[in-house]
Amino acid sequence: MVRRVYFDHSATTPVRPEVAEVMQNYLTANFGNPTSLHYFGRQVRKALEEAREKVAAAIGAKPEEIVFTSGGTESDNMAIHGVAMINKNRGNHIITSAVEHHAVINTVKALGKQGFTVTILPVDKYGLVSVEDLANAITDKTILISIMHANNEVGTIQPIEELAAVAREKGIPFHTDAVQSMGKIPVNVDKLGVDLLTISGHKIYGPKGVGALYIRKGTRWRQSLFHGGAQERLRRAGTENVPGIIGLGKACELAVQDLEKESAYLTTLRDKLIKEVMDRISNVRVTGHPTRRLPNHASFCFEFIEGESMLLSLDMKGIAASSGSACTSGSLEPSHVLLAMGIPHELAHGSIRITLGRDNTEADIDYFMEIMPPIVERLRAMSPLDQENEFAMESSCAACKVSTSCHR
Ligand code: PLP
Repeated sequence: MVRRVYFDHSATTPVRPEVAEVMQNYLTANFGNPTSLHYFGRQVRKALEEAREKVAAAIGAKPEEIVFTSGGTESDNMAIHGVAMINKNRGNHIITSAVEHHAVINTVKALGKQGFTVTILPVDKYGLVSVEDLANAITDKTILISIMHANNEVGTIQPIEELAAVAREKGIPFHTDAVQSMGKIPVNVDKLGVDLLTISGHKIYGPKGVGALYIRKGTRWRQSLFHGGAQERLRRAGTENVPGIIGLGKACELAVQDLEKESAYLTTLRDKLIKEVMDRISNVRVTGHPTRRLPNHASFCFEFIEGESMLLSLDMKGIAASSGSACTSGSLEPSHVLLAMGIPHELAHGSIRITLGRDNTEADIDYFMEIMPPIVERLRAMSPLDQENEFAMESSCAACKVSTSCHR
C-alpha cells in the first residue's frame, strides 16, 4: 500500500474531530432557521451568536464586527467591493499588491473596468511590499488599500502593522486577507491596525464554504452584495450556513488555543525540511522570505524541472504537494507571485510548495527526503531545461526554451 503524506495545508486542511463533533448536532437535531422566532430557531440563533463571539475573540474584535460569509473569496470580494462602492463619490483609487490571491486581484481588476483606478504595488525578491512604496502611491483619491497578511504561495508575512499605520494616518480604510496567517501566527485586528480582515474556515481545520469578514465599527462599507433578507444585520443576505459557522467558531477557538505550541512544532519541521532539501539537492532556491515566513510553509524553485512533473512523481509515491504554476487553465503559466518577485520565467516553472500541518511528523519529512532526490535526478536527466542535456535542449519549445510541453 502506498504511504500517504499530506503536504498541502495551504490548499486546505482536514476538519478537526472536535470541530466535526460540534457541527454534527446542527446538521441533524438542531436544524432550525436562526431567523425563526420559535424554539427551534432560537436555539440555533444562540449557537450562531456564540460562534460569532468565538471568531471575534480569536482576532480581538467585537462580535458585531463579524459577518459570516461563504469563505475567503467572498470576504475579499465583499470587503473591497463594499468599501469601493460606498466611497466612489469621494475618490476612485485603490491600492493593492502584486502578490495577492486572485480573490483580491481579480476583484480589484473588475473594479478597474468600472471606473476605478488601481495601483498594484511591486514586491522585493522576498515578496515583501515596501512601506515607502505604499506611502508614495497614496493620492487624495485613494479610498482603499488591500494587502494580504501572509502569502499563500511563498509564505512571506507582510509588515501589516506598518503598512496599515500609513493608511490610518491618511484616514484610508485598510483591508488584509488573513486566510493563510490565521491559526499560524497571531492575528489581532487592533495590533495590526486594520479596518477589514478576511478569514476562511477550511484553512484552519474548519469546514469548507464558510468564512468571515471583520469590519471595524465605523468603517464606511456598502451593505450586502446580495439582494435578499436582513440576515447578518443587513450585511449579508441569505440563510446562514449554520453547521459551517458553528464549525468555524470552534476552529477559531482551537486555532488560538493551540497557536503557540503548534507554530513552534511546525517551525521545527519546516526548518528541518528546508535544511535537508538545501543540503541534499543541488540547484534549488528557497522562495519567499528567509525569516518572515509562515511556520508551516516551505517553497522552492528547482532548476531544470517543471513543478507539475515533480508533483505527479511525488503523488505516485503518495506525497501531496502543490506547485506555483497555474496549470488549471490548461496553460503552464508560472505564478504571478513568483514573477512579481523577479524569479525568471524558467525557474518559476520549477516551483513547488510544501505546506505542513498539525498531523505531519519528522518521519514524513524523512520519507519526503527519501523520495525527492531520486525524483529530481530522474527528471533532470530527461529535462530539456538541463544545460548539460544537449539532446533535450534541442527538443524544447522554440519560443521560450521551457519544454516541449509548454503551450505557448
Ligand atoms: N485568500 C488566500 C490568501 C487564499 O490562500 C485563499 C485560498 O486559497 C483564499 C483567499 C480563498 O479562500 P476560500 O477558498 O475560502 O474562498
